[in-house]
Amino acid sequence: MIKSGDEIRQAYLDFFASKGHLVLDSAPLIPKNDPSLLWINAGMAPFKSYFDGSLEPPKHRITTSQKCIRTNDIENVGKTARHHTYFEMLGNFSFGDYFKAEAINWAWEFVTEVLQLDTDKLWITIYEDDEEAFEIWHDEVGLAEERIIRMGKKENFWQIGTGPCGPCSEIHYDRGEAAGNSAEDVIGGEGDRFLEIWNLVFTQYNYTEAGEYLELPNKNIDTGMGLERVASILQETETNFETDLIKPLIDQVVEMTGIPYRKDQTTITAYRVIADHIRSVAVAISDGALPANEGRGYVIRRLIRRAARYGRKLGFENPFLYKLVAKTAEIVEAVAPELKNQLEHVENVVKSEEKSFLQTLAQGLSILEELLLELEAENKNLISGQDAFKLYDTYGFPFDLTEEIAAESGFKVDQQGFDQEMELQRQRAREAREETNFSRGELEKTYAEFKTELAAEPFTGYNSLEEKA
Ligand code: ATP
Ligand code: MG
Ligand code: MG
Ligand code: MG
Repeated sequence: MIKSGDEIRQAYLDFFASKGHLVLDSAPLIPKNDPSLLWINAGMAPFKSYFDGSLEPPKHRITTSQKCIRTNDIENVGKTARHHTYFEMLGNFSFGDYFKAEAINWAWEFVTEVLQLDTDKLWITIYEDDEEAFEIWHDEVGLAEERIIRMGKKENFWQIGTGPCGPCSEIHYDRGEAAGNSAEDVIGGEGDRFLEIWNLVFTQYNYTEAGEYLELPNKNIDTGMGLERVASILQETETNFETDLIKPLIDQVVEMTGIPYRKDQTTITAYRVIADHIRSVAVAISDGALPANEGRGYVIRRLIRRAARYGRKLGFENPFLYKLVAKTAEIVEAVAPELKNQLEHVENVVKSEEKSFLQTLAQGLSILEELLLELEAENKNLISGQDAFKLYDTYGFPFDLTEEIAAESGFKVDQQGFDQEMELQRQRAREAREETNFSRGELEKTYAEFKTELAAEPFTGYNSLEEKA
């Protein structure tokens, strides 16, 4: 029976190889020749030039398991059962070769015959006007009409500005009421009950400047299936975090702290965030990224700092993340063998970044303590937005940390004032950009600006940084 992450990946690649696909290794996380993209965020991303026809693919059918980073999901990590910053996307691609009928029939064959998922738990979404997809699911696969849910453009149509676009169809797995019972636990909703496992994109139109959808002469297929999500189903775990792709990391941290994983919601979240972030950081560094104050490097820096902060909640006062790199390398070896070869380098980078963050924190902490003494002397119990912002901006002291420490001594922090300062900072950054005729990478990015950028990055998954329509 197929169960482990490694077995699922292999079964997927073998299955599509048996359907005439060329199996390729995962591309590195850092995109090549694609300035529009910070990280590879979907299986199709390395193949954009095959999709738009500017390069000829080595074969018209390709399958991969692709390493992905999605920074736009960072806030979801630990909150939902299914989101990571680093994950693997299994995919099969057709460049002007097979189309909808094969993509759908093979997807169904794979989930029901190879993975042997319970068909009663599977639900399909299609784009509302995609009669062709409906007929294939209904007449060829044989699904009842009520199992095929029609959704609008927002959910089931992929389009990025003008150019190739098309409807998609997604496979969802019902994990039962126990997995979620809120208004969001509907198919396509934000809840965790109906788990979206596989997206099949049918690139069949060219959207023109004139606003017309013209049929493409060469239709493409682009699919993406989340490995960790499928593993959670086959391993019958509560969330992705208890699968063999992540849990060994949580176990290692638990061993280090002695605090049970499920002690309370805070520990659960902390362990999940740490395990998630170290996977991103370790694999990205092995692909050539380094902590920095801008761009990709800033993502690495932010992920390490964020994980270190959650580590503090578990009592870590010294660098500890770097100790998880070796275990990460074992887990991802089949898809990211580079990590094992560069273990020492990656450990050193993570450790020194942790050290410098701890120094910054210590500095900020002593300034905060001084500030509290001053306020106390003045009989005040509110830290101004300006002071909180200074701690944040100069010492990398996140707002919630200031709030937390302040609360311990009975102080409050002016959140509104802090937000105002943040907005002013954004304005300054914008103005500075205009003045210096900003080009990417020239101007040092501030924390605040980076946050704005993160919030604005849609990372819709199937293309560039541009917004999906
Ligand atoms: P969701 O709606 O759950 O956020 P999505 O619609 O953003 O997922 P797609 O862009 O369609 O995801 O990506 C294809 C597949 O990749 C998804 O069906 C899912 O299995 C997987 N996937 C997407 N985002 C993540 C993530 N952050 N962590 C783990 N797996 C993911
Ligand atoms: Mg998403
Ligand atoms: Mg979705
Ligand atoms: Mg999707």
